[in-house]
Amino acid sequence: MKTIIYSFGDAMNFSKIKSNFQDLKNGEIDVKQGLLSKEDALKLFEITHWKDYLKLFSIASEVRDYFKKEIEITSTIHITNICKVHPKCLYCGFASGTSKEGYYTPFKISDEEIKNSAIAIDKSGICRVSCSSAHGYEGGEVLRALKIVKENTNLEVLVNAGADLTEESIKEMKKYGIDTICCNLETTNKELFKKIKPGEELEDRIEVCKLVKKYDIELSSGLLLGVGESHEDRVNHLLFLKELDVDEIPIMGFNPYKGTPMENHPRCSSLEQAKTIAIVRLMFPDIRITSPTPTIGAELMQFALMGGASNIATVIPDNHPMNIKGVGNPKTGNLKDVIRMIKELGLKPKIRMD
Ligand code: SF4
Repeated sequence: MKTIIYSFGDAMNFSKIKSNFQDLKNGEIDVKQGLLSKEDALKLFEITHWKDYLKLFSIASEVRDYFKKEIEITSTIHITNICKVHPKCLYCGFASGTSKEGYYTPFKISDEEIKNSAIAIDKSGICRVSCSSAHGYEGGEVLRALKIVKENTNLEVLVNAGADLTEESIKEMKKYGIDTICCNLETTNKELFKKIKPGEELEDRIEVCKLVKKYDIELSSGLLLGVGESHEDRVNHLLFLKELDVDEIPIMGFNPYKGTPMENHPRCSSLEQAKTIAIVRLMFPDIRITSPTPTIGAELMQFALMGGASNIATVIPDNHPMNIKGVGNPKTGNLKDVIRMIKELGLKPKIRMD
């Protein structure tokens, strides 16, 4: 088994990444090692020239295409926006009372509404749904949704209740056939985490991630970009996710919600998100890398695909019975538009045709 070639010297040397990729394909590098060292990843974050961007996107897309024959599409059911975290996360426009652009009014949807949403998503041909709830239910609300979705559809299910899960609720979800549990750390820079999420503890989120892996469930855990973290913070975060043996990484660029304490903080550009996705793809060649449409901007998701993303999330079919607003931004991606944009790049959307 070879070790990957590190250190590019002063100039970016993409041929070294290509040579590492060839070794990976030849079975001489373990896929878990990835294709970059910490120094390489940091250097890639510093690129500023279009020539380097094109080379980066080209190799990242090649790596994605080698492992992923189709682009996954994930839809959404929001179960409740009544969040007991206090004070609220500074960027949040999802929880009731945080942003008039968001849901604002408190809601908790009924079993019937969950069932109707799930059946509509299933009928649209989408194969996967994310069911998420705000905090304060110890996993009870996402467990309720999981049972209903699995009883009524063939959808793969991801649940996201952040750190609001107990070991018991995770064990129960395993019993009911959960596919993926998402718990985003957002940033592993402790001071920054405390600043933007004053009502939460980073350690609680890490604990949930470890429990998910303990029960051999797919772990999704992502980064929130452009909230004050440095490139080194991002790379350290990614290396920490490697230690956790993460299975999916959502890359979410900050996109401000009006009325929140961060409404005047600048949004993270689509280019910065795509660059980060590409670096993640080179560090984690074979995992699911997710770009939620509200964070990159639904009309800009082709940047994410060129960066090597393999899953587009918060995609809403025309027949979805609920008015879904994104967690990072009220706008969501329409299924027909998303399929068209995937095909425009010569990629294949994963969609059931029956
Ligand atoms: S981001 Fe999640 S935990 Fe934070 S306030 Fe919003 S709903 Fe609550």
